[in-house]
Amino acid sequence: MSETIVMKFGGTSVADGERIKNAARRIVAAHEKGARVVAVLSAQGKTTDQLVAAANEISDRPDPREMDMLLSTGERISCALAAMAIHDMGQQAISLTGSQAGILTDTSHTKARIVEVRADRIEEALNEDKIVLVAGFQGVSTNRDVTTLGRGGSDTTAVAVAAALKADVCEIYTDVDGVFNADPRIVPNARMLPMVSFEEMLEMSASGAGVLQLRSIEYARNHGVPIHCRSSFHDRTGTLVVSEEQTLEHALVTAVTHATDEARVTVRGVPDRPGVAGEIFTKLAEANINVDMILQNEPEGGEHPAELSFTVPRDDLTGALDTLNAIDEFDAVESNTEIGKVSVIGAGMRSHPGVAAKVFTVLGEQGINLEMISTSPIKISCVIAADRVPDAVKALHEAFDLGVAVEDATGDFRPVAP
Ligand code: ADP
Ligand code: ASP
Ligand code: MG
Repeated sequence: MSETIVMKFGGTSVADGERIKNAARRIVAAHEKGARVVAVLSAQGKTTDQLVAAANEISDRPDPREMDMLLSTGERISCALAAMAIHDMGQQAISLTGSQAGILTDTSHTKARIVEVRADRIEEALNEDKIVLVAGFQGVSTNRDVTTLGRGGSDTTAVAVAAALKADVCEIYTDVDGVFNADPRIVPNARMLPMVSFEEMLEMSASGAGVLQLRSIEYARNHGVPIHCRSSFHDRTGTLVVSEEQTLEHALVTAVTHATDEARVTVRGVPDRPGVAGEIFTKLAEANINVDMILQNEPEGGEHPAELSFTVPRDDLTGALDTLNAIDEFDAVESNTEIGKVSVIGAGMRSHPGVAAKVFTVLGEQGINLEMISTSPIKISCVIAADRVPDAVKALHEAFDLGVAVEDATGDFRPVAP
């Protein structure tokens, strides 16, 4: 049987008419080589941000169901326009909403999870030799409402469709050449990684490398979907996300990542009795709030109430504060949005001590205060002041020698100064 390819184009790659036509040309070229092609498109440029802003102008707490009705429109526009472009190139194409494409999700509006992909309608169209365009980032819930999959969710649509079709590859076309060992917008001499393991990519996405949505990596790992993240502006190979056995080297440190879209919540006067933390985090989980780092200051001697701090995505801050204030058992609930997180990731860390020490020393030398720390076997994350994030990323990238190597006059390779 002929090859099946899922090609996903991100917002920048379909930002205007010319770029939609470019994406359409690529899609048509793959189809003309004999592949069965499904393209998943994002909303054009900053459309989703504009829709979010429009909702916030109307309401402080936009109704989540209606938010999803609104947000899902952006990707539909891209798909309809791309289908028109493909028709003009002499091929048959059909655009489908997430719901029409059979993307079934749970009911958690604005961050729904895909529970199943019923791909028969996509299959039918492919069997009729059509190119299928699927609106990314959306689905239909078990309650028959339109849902969206969280920011960056078109990546997950693409991977889920690729898994359902048992596609040969899921190509993620974006505005950078692939996955880099730091965000190239902050570190100009960051290096593209030809291969990265699922484990490392999971940690990278979870700690802020927005180039691939975290859930898309989870889904790809669980269903064995090969991902190729590459540029929509040229034909060079990008980054392959592969199993750990397939990666060539196990670098001590693979990448430095950062996030500036989180907030810290501090709860003062937490009653000092067993089970309180359980109650607090159960309520937060019931409100569908993802808590990341947690820090508890134990009261000395057990007489004074404890203090609890944790980080949440900034989009969840209002929900977290509403949830905690409703408990009404604490002295104060405070929040800080001026925080950032910087992380160092590497599978080699498992077997080499000393990485944490070096991270803390490097940040200390920059005069950067560590507000919270968390670790996994292959990651160290630090919460710092938001305005120090670029300095922290650059300093760590340099300290671990992650810059692009160039041949100098003596024939030796050395990292390029940023
Ligand atoms: P798309 O619209 O194609 O989905 P995104 O904006 O979601 O694109 O992701 C691409 C962006 O991710 C890049 O422009 C880059 O600034 C950012 N980025 C952050 N970390 C990394 C990284 N480690 N490697 C590559 N890009 C990264
Ligand atoms: N348009 C959505 C967003 O901006 C989804 C995506 O682009 O993946 O988050
Ligand atoms: Mg994206």
